[in-house]
Amino acid sequence: MGRYDYHSAGELDAALDAAVRGASGRANSRVVGESVRRLPIRAISIKSDGGDAPTARPQAMVVANIHGNEVIGSELALALVEDLCRDQPAPAVARLLAGCDVTVVPVANPDAREASMASLSGSGLVNWAPRRNAHGVDLNRNWPFPGGVVDNWLPLSGTSNRRLPWCRGPAPFSEPETAALAALARELRPAVLLNLHSTGQILTYPWSSRAAPSADAQGFVSMAAAFRAHQTRWSYRAKQSHSWYPIIGSSNDWFHESFGTMAMTVEIAPNGAAAAKDAGLLRRPFWAANPLDPAAHIENDRGACIAALAEGLTWRQANGH
Ligand SMILES: [Zn+2]
Repeated sequence: MGRYDYHSAGELDAALDAAVRGASGRANSRVVGESVRRLPIRAISIKSDGGDAPTARPQAMVVANIHGNEVIGSELALALVEDLCRDQPAPAVARLLAGCDVTVVPVANPDAREASMASLSGSGLVNWAPRRNAHGVDLNRNWPFPGGVVDNWLPLSGTSNRRLPWCRGPAPFSEPETAALAALARELRPAVLLNLHSTGQILTYPWSSRAAPSADAQGFVSMAAAFRAHQTRWSYRAKQSHSWYPIIGSSNDWFHESFGTMAMTVEIAPNGAAAAKDAGLLRRPFWAANPLDPAAHIENDRGACIAALAEGLTWRQANGH
C-alpha cells in the first residue's frame, strides 16, 4: 500500500480471507450481523488454539470504521488481522495471543464505508463521504446512557436532530449495526477493546459522559502509555474522553459499564486540512478523515495497538471487575 491506496469492499474482504487462510486454523471469520442495506458485518477471531467455540479465555476486541468516512480505521484493522494471523507472529503478538483471544470487526458501518469509497471516484461538485449509517444515525451515539447520566446540551454529544451528523437515532441499539456489535459483546464480554476512528491523533477513554474519572483511570493511563511507547513516528496525546468533548451514549462507556472493558478510542492521523491541496479536499471530504498515505499511519500504529491490548488486559486481570 502506498499513497492514496485504500481497499474497496471486495479487496478488503479478499485480504481478510487470505489472512484467515494463512492462520493455520487459528482464525475464523463469521458474519455477526447486517447493515441497514443488508451488507454483512464480519468478525474475525484469532485464537491461540484455533477452536470455533468461545473459549473460557479472556477476550480482546477491535472495532473499526463505526463512522463510515473514517476508512483508515478499517485499513489498520486489516493490518492487525494480518499480524495476528501470521504463521510466525512477532513476539509481542504471540505474547498477546498466549493471554487472550482477539476478535476484530474491521468494518462496523459497511453501508457508509462503501459510500465513502464511492466518493473517491464520484464526479459531483462535492462527493460526500458519510459518517452515519443508512438511517442517518451516528453509530457512536446509539448506545445506552450509563446509569445516572443525563443528556448534554452540546449537539456533538448526541442529538435527536436528524439533520445533524451526531444524530443518536430513535433509541439505543435501534440500528442493526450497533445491535450486532452489542450481541457480539455480550457473547465475548471483552476485557479490552480498541475502537479505531480518525482523525486527531488522540487516545480517549471512559468516561465520555461524565467529568469524574472512572475507577480504571490509572489503567487507561497505562494503556495509553503502552500505545504511545510503541508508536514509531507520530505519538498521540491521551485524555479522558469527556475532557476532549462529552459523548452521551458512546460505545466505550457502554462496554466499560457493562463488562468492565478497558475500552479506548484511537483517533488515527492528523486532521485533514493538509490534504486540501493534494487531493481536492473540498470536492472529496474523504480526505478530511483519512490520511493521504495510509501505509505510513498503519506502520505507526499497528504495534501500538498490540501493546495497548496487552496492557489493558493485564490491568483488567490485576484489578478485577
Ligand atoms: Zn469517529
